[in-house]
Amino acid sequence: MKDVAKDTILVHAGRDPKNNHGIVNPPVYHCSTVLFPTLDALEDSDRRPFEVINYGRVGTPTTFAFEKAVAELEGGFGAVNTGSGLSAISIALSAVTKAGDHVLITDSAYGPTRRFANETLKGYGVEVEFFDPNIGAGIAALLRPNTCAVFLESPGSLTFEIQDVPAIAAAAKTVGAVVMIDNTWATPLFFRPFDHGVDLSIHAATKYMVGHADAMLGAIVCRDEALWTTVKKTATRFGVCAGPDDLFLGLRGLRSMAVRLKQHQESALILADWLAARPDITRVLHPARPDFPGHALWKRDFTGSSGLFSALLTPVPRAALAAFFDGLELFGIGYSWGGFESLILPARPAGVRTATRWDEPGHLLRFHAGLEHPDDLIRDLDAAFRRLNAAL
Ligand SMILES: *Cc1c(COP(=O)(O)O)cnc(C)c1O
Repeated sequence: MKDVAKDTILVHAGRDPKNNHGIVNPPVYHCSTVLFPTLDALEDSDRRPFEVINYGRVGTPTTFAFEKAVAELEGGFGAVNTGSGLSAISIALSAVTKAGDHVLITDSAYGPTRRFANETLKGYGVEVEFFDPNIGAGIAALLRPNTCAVFLESPGSLTFEIQDVPAIAAAAKTVGAVVMIDNTWATPLFFRPFDHGVDLSIHAATKYMVGHADAMLGAIVCRDEALWTTVKKTATRFGVCAGPDDLFLGLRGLRSMAVRLKQHQESALILADWLAARPDITRVLHPARPDFPGHALWKRDFTGSSGLFSALLTPVPRAALAAFFDGLELFGIGYSWGGFESLILPARPAGVRTATRWDEPGHLLRFHAGLEHPDDLIRDLDAAFRRLNAAL
């Protein structure tokens, strides 16, 4: 689809009613074995492994519908599906690294990304180095002839640092490193990685794409055909693929993602403003707020913000923190985010930092603004702060 808005792509991408009895949604293929009518057909499929449907693991029309939709949305050559966001990250990193290579990873990366790099990539003989997310063009000093990949995540997990993606990507190109970004927070709607020099855009589709907290799904969108072939081969070698019902939930989630994100965005900003005005909150970490250090970069490169942000609570004893959490009625306490429901999580960035330090006093709380009415969410939080203060 040419010259249409992302909202329109979301509604139409990956669907083909004309070739599907007029039915709006593509069917869900449950598949392992694919039968071939003749020996010739079987041998032909071996020669063209990614063109002919030959086995469930390599892909079905359900897989291709999801991959096509996500690739079209992001504006890449193609996408590769995986069974979770983390497997999309591990496959992308594995696809472009080999023993003896050097990989640079932002210090603000999602914790399990760091663990995969430290515990698995290192074990395979890859040198892993973390860098300050605010490094910008200064990354040039860390690049080596064997730097094969630069891994970005912007905003960063838990602390939301905005990275100067074009500056980092331009420097990475001088040594031929593949630039990859975890674009889960922004979704393809609010940040366009390929316009900023990125080669691989990675999504935990589990979050806003699925959008209903009921499936695990990942996608790696590749800028060009050569990278797509490399990533697809790697995913196939590892035997990574998502189940058909989860792919269907990913496709279904995409249809309403733009309208959901409008509300997540609006409600998160309302909550962030309300929190920022409270005496027991020392700082709100939300890139769309003018008081956030990365705000200017966010404004330059992003077209919106989603529902996830953090706020720093003044230091309080654990019992008071527990009083805050334990009586919550609407906010859930739990991992992940991107579903229709609001969540709060105590975050501990200090434990997942090595190139930089996080030594702010107090408790960092990560909020996900769900689709409940913001007035009700504020009432739930207000009651939580009352319990906290009563426990001091
Ligand atoms: C949740 C998350 C992931 C991992 O996705 P899963 O589907 O849970 O494996 C990766 N990156 C970011 C930024 C995330 O928030």
